[in-house]
Amino acid sequence: MDSKQFKEAAASAIDEIVNYYETIEDRRVVSNVEPGYLKKLLPDGPPQEGESWADIQKDIETKIMPGLTHWQSPNFMAFFPASSSFPGMLGELYSAAFTAPAFNWICSPAVTELETVVLDWLAKLLNLPECYLSTAHGGGVIQGSASEAIVTVIVAARDKYLRETTSHLSGLELEDAIAHKRSKMVALGSEMAHSSTQKAAQIAGVRYRSVPVTKEDGFALNGKYLEDTIKECKAQGLEPFFLTTTIGTTSTCAVDDFPSIATTLAKYAPPNIPGEIWVHVDAAYAGAALVCPEFQHLTAEFEHFHSFDMNMHKWLLTNFDASCLYVRKRKDLIDALSIMPSYLRNEFSESGLVTDYRDWQIPLGRRFRSLKIWFVLRTYGVKGLQAHIRKHIKYGEAFAGLLKTRPDIFEIMTGPNFALTVFKIVTKEGGKVEQEKHTKEVYELVNKRGEIYITSSVVGGDYAMRVVSANPMAEERFLHKAFDILVATAEEIRDGKIK
Ligand code: PLP
Repeated sequence: MDSKQFKEAAASAIDEIVNYYETIEDRRVVSNVEPGYLKKLLPDGPPQEGESWADIQKDIETKIMPGLTHWQSPNFMAFFPASSSFPGMLGELYSAAFTAPAFNWICSPAVTELETVVLDWLAKLLNLPECYLSTAHGGGVIQGSASEAIVTVIVAARDKYLRETTSHLSGLELEDAIAHKRSKMVALGSEMAHSSTQKAAQIAGVRYRSVPVTKEDGFALNGKYLEDTIKECKAQGLEPFFLTTTIGTTSTCAVDDFPSIATTLAKYAPPNIPGEIWVHVDAAYAGAALVCPEFQHLTAEFEHFHSFDMNMHKWLLTNFDASCLYVRKRKDLIDALSIMPSYLRNEFSESGLVTDYRDWQIPLGRRFRSLKIWFVLRTYGVKGLQAHIRKHIKYGEAFAGLLKTRPDIFEIMTGPNFALTVFKIVTKEGGKVEQEKHTKEVYELVNKRGEIYITSSVVGGDYAMRVVSANPMAEERFLHKAFDILVATAEEIRDGKIK
């Protein structure tokens, strides 16, 4: 493809993409193809002779679209959103054009420096304490996902814990102590923490224990239960070294009780003393709301914690992937992840005056992801992002309000929290088992029909449905539509109209 052909192909692709967005609400939101559908539509191998762009592009609609679940559709209310926006897409386009796996500063100074600048902008926007800024001892780095961010910090926490608690030893004694401690180290997360912490513990080769949460506490982690778990671990000879806390848990968008967590940790693993527990704040989705001053009180304790992560690609209009990880002390990351083979040596790295983001992440190469964040921040501005979040929160309240008009069908279990409402179907007769069966049937039928797409969860032992009103294309009319579909489906099932 030469540049003239590229121009024509790109114009045609952009036309198609714009049309896709303009008509997306009319598509069936969740794909209903059979497993293996695509293999049947594609040849056994690549063509011998190159094909024209027009021929390739045709296959998008006929072969790819049927197998897409349309995350950008306003009828998509499942999981958490995966944001997309035109400025975000332009960032991806330029990033692809420049393709520069800038692992060291010298490999493209702009890639590194823009990342540092926009992540500092973002830290201020989210009201993170000053210690998380690059101008202090911290800093931010873009990772691929919240899960990857947790793997990265758990490794840093593990090495810091081992280093600090064995610093008085050397030689064989040190090796034995490290081997012993490694077998006893345990990462903690609440029952409602995302599974990525357990996975990160598995990858880092440490144990995992979950801390109970209760309905009375709104399914949020609190200091009391944390204290019990720490005591239990210690009584078993285990060494807690890491804790994931959450702003916006996946099931119900609960916010952990940071003040009581900080108080417990001050008692059992005092900060800044060898053996402290590294606290990571997983704000993958709901952390976006921190752009609004009305949520910024939530960051008050973060100066006592160690790392924070928020996905711009979930709720802040930035295309996947843009997980923004911050650490209070960048040295902790660098100590764990830096390695300097001769082929990576250069005068700038050795001067100590530049950031080499390869030391802040697991891979070596990296994409120019800060561009899309920069474009988004500049295109919408602070006020635009605040309006975006507030609009979705208002839609969540409107949807919950609709559910409340039909107490004969629905019971809200939690929320709306950060535009997420969790609810179940109530039945006149039958107890929990009947309600659970009915809720499951409604959930499955709604998704099978594919007019809207929602997800389920189990909350406090009860089966529940989740509706998220934070899709970039969300409008109140789509939440009304979702409500009407849920009512009609629940009534059909209740009246035995579905066989
Ligand atoms: N943390 C929370 C609270 C989440 O809800 C999710 C996913 O929805 C994750 C972490 C994992 O996110 P990622 O897909 O970026 O790894």
